[in-house]
Parts: sequence; structure tokens; C-alpha cells
Amino acid sequence: MPSALAAPDVVCNGVSKTFAGRSGSVKALDDINLRLESGTLTALVGPSGCGKSTLLRIIAGLEQADPGSLLTVDGDDPREMRRRGEISVAFQDASLLPWRSAASNVALARQLARQKPDRARVNELLELVGLKGFEKARPAQLSGGMRQRTAIARCLATSPRLMLLDEPFGAVDELTRRRLNLELPVTWADRGVTSLLVTHSIPEAVLLADRVVVMSPRPGRVVAAVDVDLSRPRRAAHLHSDRFHSLVDEIGTLLGVDTDLQRSEQRA
Ligand code: ADP
Ligand code: MG
Repeated sequence: MPSALAAPDVVCNGVSKTFAGRSGSVKALDDINLRLESGTLTALVGPSGCGKSTLLRIIAGLEQADPGSLLTVDGDDPREMRRRGEISVAFQDASLLPWRSAASNVALARQLARQKPDRARVNELLELVGLKGFEKARPAQLSGGMRQRTAIARCLATSPRLMLLDEPFGAVDELTRRRLNLELPVTWADRGVTSLLVTHSIPEAVLLADRVVVMSPRPGRVVAAVDVDLSRPRRAAHLHSDRFHSLVDEIGTLLGVDTDLQRSEQRA
């Protein structure tokens, strides 16, 4: 990451969002106050439909917040930053172009951001996410987990300062998810890219994040922000520590969910 462009602080100040529809309006977000600190990974958890994706899209500059909301990404315009490849976004479905190879999908991110082609970097990133030897494979020839890895490599291809990930591991099977949880984030979380990760898995949030932000049911509000004081790099051993479990329980209680069940899914 070029040191001239440090990872940004992202500040949401009174961010609200109401969707106007034919059958009335839906208030998705209500007065969100949140700071993503430079170089840290924040996980966003909350019940389905509480506005997590909406908030991520607002920060990405893909959606407009209501008037009166204040969003700053180091004083820059998120849409411009995204065009320059400084903000990378990944969604639950890897959304790769099916007719392009893995390498070509990753390379495309640089092209779209008008960065010069860099085949060495593309190959290096594919190797980093464990896809050495699959550079020429089309998405249909890759497993779900491999497609998500490709999407993460694509996110990293432009050397973003801000990564926004919306349930990036949501569509892969549980075993693969756990492996990706342990293997992939070191590729960016320990490099100091400011990141926001939306997830429905509390153990995943605790394992990966520096801070877990808990949202209320719709309209989404911030219920609590829990700092995760586990050492980095995060390893499988953390999953068995008492501190890990007490954090999972604390967040589960805030959300009102059965964390024993979530934990057994993580372990099984
Ligand atoms: P989450 O990601 O937490 O599951 P979303 O941000 O996707 O929640 O959605 C929050 C609420 O906003 C939901 O009630 C959803 O139906 C509504 N919503 C999201 N996007 C739109 C849209 N483009 N138009 C209308 N309503 C929307
Ligand atoms: Mg969502």
C-alpha cells in the first residue's frame, strides 16, 4: 500500500436512510453514528433487514443517505475514491465475469480504476489467496470458496485504502468459510487497510474484527460497539480462548441470539 495514501478514517454522523416506495416508505437506517478507524477492521452484525447492506452501500458511495446525514471518508468523495480503486467492495456472490479467467477478473479491477496493468501483482495476489495454478480457470471451473478468494484478490488488486465486504463468506460452505476466515484476512486485516465487514456470524466477527458494531432491528441503529482485544495475527487457537467465548456471548446477548448454536456451527 503506498504510504502517501494512508488508510482513511470513515465517519458516519447521524446517517439515516429512508427508501420511498409505491406502498409507502421504509426507514432502513436511523441516526447511525459510527467511526471506522484508520487501518482497523470493523465488523457489522445485526438482524436480517436492519440496514447493514444499506449502510455499506452508503459508505461505498453506491447509495445516497438522507439529507442531513454526514459521511466523511477523510474528507474525500467515496464515489471518486471507488473509481480510483481506493475503495474496494465485495458482495456475497463473488460476481465474477463468467467468460473471463480468474487472473483476468482480478486484472479488470485495475483496468476499471485506470491503473496500469500489473500481471506480476495479479499473480502474486492469486497466490496469496491460495489460487496458484488456477490463473487461467474460468469461474465455472472454480468452487464457491475459490470464487470468493478470487473476489478478495480482485478487491486487493487496486491496493485499496478501504475495503467494504458484505457477507463475503456467506455463500460458501461452513468448512470453507472457517478456513477462509483464518487464511484470508491476514492478507489485508494485518496490513492496515481500513475495513468494514458485514457478517451474520458472531464468531466470524469476533475472530476477524478490531471492533464489532451491533445494530438493532430495522430501522437500524447502533446498539453497541464492542472492542475485540484479542492479539493479532488471529489464529485458530483464538477460537478456543476464554476471551473469545466471552466476547461471542456478550455480542450474542446484545443481539438476543443463541451463541452456543453459532459456536457449534463454527466448531463442527
Ligand atoms: P440487511 O443487509 O441488514 O439485511 P438491507 O440494508 O438490505 O438489510 O435492508 C434494510 C431495509 O431496507 C430492508 O427493509 C429492505 O427491504 C430495505 N431496502 C433495502 N434496499 C432497498 C431499496 N433499494 N429499495 C427499497 N427498500 C430497500
Ligand atoms: Mg445485507
